[in-house]
Amino acid sequence: MKLLLPTILTVLSAGVFFTFTGCNSLESSSSKGQLWERELGAVANTPEDPNDLHKQLNLKVDLIPKGKYGRRIERPLTPRYITIHSTQNPTGDAYAHAKALKRGALRGGVVGYLCWHFTVQDDAVIQHIPTDERGEHADFDGPGNRYSIGIEMCEHQGNNQLKTMDRTAKLAASLMYHHKIPIENIRAHYHWPRAGYSTPNKNCPHFLLENGRPGGTWSWFVGRINRHHQRLVAHDEALQQEEQQRREEERRREMVFQIWDRFTGFFRIG
Ligand SMILES: [Zn+2]
Repeated sequence: MKLLLPTILTVLSAGVFFTFTGCNSLESSSSKGQLWERELGAVANTPEDPNDLHKQLNLKVDLIPKGKYGRRIERPLTPRYITIHSTQNPTGDAYAHAKALKRGALRGGVVGYLCWHFTVQDDAVIQHIPTDERGEHADFDGPGNRYSIGIEMCEHQGNNQLKTMDRTAKLAASLMYHHKIPIENIRAHYHWPRAGYSTPNKNCPHFLLENGRPGGTWSWFVGRINRHHQRLVAHDEALQQEEQQRREEERRREMVFQIWDRFTGFFRIG
């Protein structure tokens, strides 16, 4: 039995090693993802204040008027997923999409007008509807529209696609943090089939998919969101630790004080 132990350990450690290389190969299986990661630089491994991340987004709130177009019917949303799209529009930037949504120019969906929550370009994010209202961006009356926040990434000429992707990853991380959405609930539009379509699973966001499906590049992008989110979680954990230390010090100070009180009291009595 003793003789067997090293063999078991070797097998176990080989298994652990295999698991690790397996994870790495999943993220690095897309050469596009590898290239983009190199160009963007790795996400820092340090805690980040959620307020600081929010400032970096350069968020502009420019809502569709309440009661009009995509918001003509009040439909509450409790977001459980985040859906990522890309505009496939070579001419419209985020501001142009905001204008189009505000004048009801984009028709479709269950209420007759398309709408989604955020449009991202390389240097800004524009919000079109509140995150507690349902949008029309994914799958008509399906779960994509009923349960998710919709984000469109711009593709207009002159827009830096890499910066747009990273700004989107930061926005998604911030929304995950504030709405308590887990990383497995980050979805490509592809994941929400559209009933009645000959190609129900849309090739969207096309530049993050391989042959119209999520693969290594999509995994890379979700990994990027995850790392931005982990920074926010690490910040919370650091705050909790500080708070615990502060309470512990306070408790010790009180203890010393009580002992000193008793000590001096003893002398007074004596
Ligand atoms: Zn889409």
